Amino acid sequence: MNFLKNLHKKIKHIIIIIGIFMSFPLFFPCELNAAPYIRYKTCYGEKYVYLSDLASFYGMTLTKRHDGCEIRNKNSAFSFTFEKRTGLYNGVKIHYLYASCIVGSEPLISEKDYKFIIDPLVRGPKQPRGKVIKTIVIDPGHGGKDDGAEAEGNKEKNLVFIIAKKLRDKLRAKGFNVYLTREKDVFIDLDNRPAKAKTYKADIFISIHCNAAADKQVKGLETFCLTPEGAPSTSDKNSKSSAFQGNKFNKENICLAYLVQRCVLGNTGAADRGIKHARFAVIKGAPCPAVLIETGFLTNAREGKNLAWSKYQDGIADGIAEGISYYARLH
Ligand SMILES: [Zn+2]
Repeated sequence: MNFLKNLHKKIKHIIIIIGIFMSFPLFFPCELNAAPYIRYKTCYGEKYVYLSDLASFYGMTLTKRHDGCEIRNKNSAFSFTFEKRTGLYNGVKIHYLYASCIVGSEPLISEKDYKFIIDPLVRGPKQPRGKVIKTIVIDPGHGGKDDGAEAEGNKEKNLVFIIAKKLRDKLRAKGFNVYLTREKDVFIDLDNRPAKAKTYKADIFISIHCNAAADKQVKGLETFCLTPEGAPSTSDKNSKSSAFQGNKFNKENICLAYLVQRCVLGNTGAADRGIKHARFAVIKGAPCPAVLIETGFLTNAREGKNLAWSKYQDGIADGIAEGISYYARLH
């Protein structure tokens, strides 16, 4: 009998030990997600990460070429050019915060690019799951005494107002609540525009502009989101800054910028000038995810004509509405 009792005890012990071992694989992946194994190195005075470590963390493959590299899985592909800030994300041009580099045979990117661009685009923004994106505030740039850009008799303030109204109607048709920061040709201070997003409890703020350049050949579409704190804007190499209200939404901002840029490109066939970062007043004060879209150059003969053409304006508005709908479905 004693022998049987001991046997029972032994079996109990073995079952407990097996149970503990079996539970490890359940904990282990979570731990791995919380703190992936990533090596760091200082380059250009900034903290950089090894791209091969990021690739294995995301289950991506890293492919090198002579002047750059790519990481890719079935949903996401990022390309980098060494010593440059430009690259591609799923075929859309992206301006990274810092240049990528290669040390020995190992490509590296900045930790801020990993944290504020790569991670949210691969894994989506981490807003509370189930958040409903319902209210959109559209900001037609300029107005009143401020014409914005002007070429061939086309004023930016008028064109962006037409596009904004088309966008409003398309978003309403999709079931969103939509407000404009201005309902007519009136001047509004820059700071008062994101303030309206707060008044209307917006879930998304989108500012619409047209571009101008001294070089009449310059054309194309660009979408800006707020530069993350401590990083330089696209037009800058060194400028750094502390956080603004809009920086609470760094991860959401980049996802929204990508979806809007991709969908408007798809609907217009415009040249791709990429996703950029800036600290524009209207987006830095936003109380919700926000982007500013430069829909094209009035100073380019063909693009200027397009921007004044109703069908093309519809293409822009359809693209923005589609991007917002995709974004809403991420939650
Ligand atoms: Zn403008």
